[in-house]
Amino acid sequence: MWRRTTWLPPLFSSSKRSLVNQIQGAYGLRIWRTMSSEIQKPEEDGTFPRGITPFITFVLGGPGSGKGTQCARIVENFGFTHLSAGDLLRQEISSNSENGAMILNTIKDGKIVPSEVTVKLIQKAIESSESHKFLIDGFPRTEENRLTYERIIGAEPNIVLFFDCPPEEMVKRVLNRRQGRVDDNANTVKERLKIFRALSLPVVNYYAKKGKLYKIDGTGTEDEIFERVRPIFAA
Ligand code: UDP
Ligand code: MG
Repeated sequence: MWRRTTWLPPLFSSSKRSLVNQIQGAYGLRIWRTMSSEIQKPEEDGTFPRGITPFITFVLGGPGSGKGTQCARIVENFGFTHLSAGDLLRQEISSNSENGAMILNTIKDGKIVPSEVTVKLIQKAIESSESHKFLIDGFPRTEENRLTYERIIGAEPNIVLFFDCPPEEMVKRVLNRRQGRVDDNANTVKERLKIFRALSLPVVNYYAKKGKLYKIDGTGTEDEIFERVRPIFAA
């Protein structure tokens, strides 16, 4: 069963009120208690040493489903910090790090980079940010990705967005976007779609069962899709 997108109270404001206060205000203390028992307490030297667990949104969907485009709109309208796992991996390739060649070859094949590599990049990005609310785009792509994130970061996402789009539409968008990506070609897209169906959809289903999933119709114009996203973050 997919969760409806219309009932969420306003969680975020641009004020400097702490996230805990905002969440308590929005949900009431009882629900905050439920949430805090669900999210493991960060260790002093862990990913959240400043004593506040950030609000994490995972953004899932197949290649070309509109994750990155809609994340930009959410950032503009609701002040989240956007961390694209794919972009973090591409930056790692450009920075000539020791894993660069392995990451490049994996992306070229449309396969999944080893979980620890991706999670450590996400961890570094969270730690070096002052933000208290993150969109993690294009991750987790496998159950193993998800479990590695939980083990290393020690927290669950608060909510998960899933952009649902027919494969023909996704292929069309990817082949038309011409951003010079090594994986935006017919062969690699076929493999990425296969991996999405086999390995990423189980992650989507996992969060649906946990009641954390917001499934969004990913067809139509950017504006039309954003009007489906907006009520999740605003009253
Ligand atoms: N990738 C990965 N793990 C991740 C995110 C991305 O291995 O957590 C790799 C994978 O090969 C994927 C590619 O990076 O096909 C591009 O991912 P991105 O999310 O940028 O592409 P999109 O799905 O948005 O087109
Ligand atoms: Mg993307």
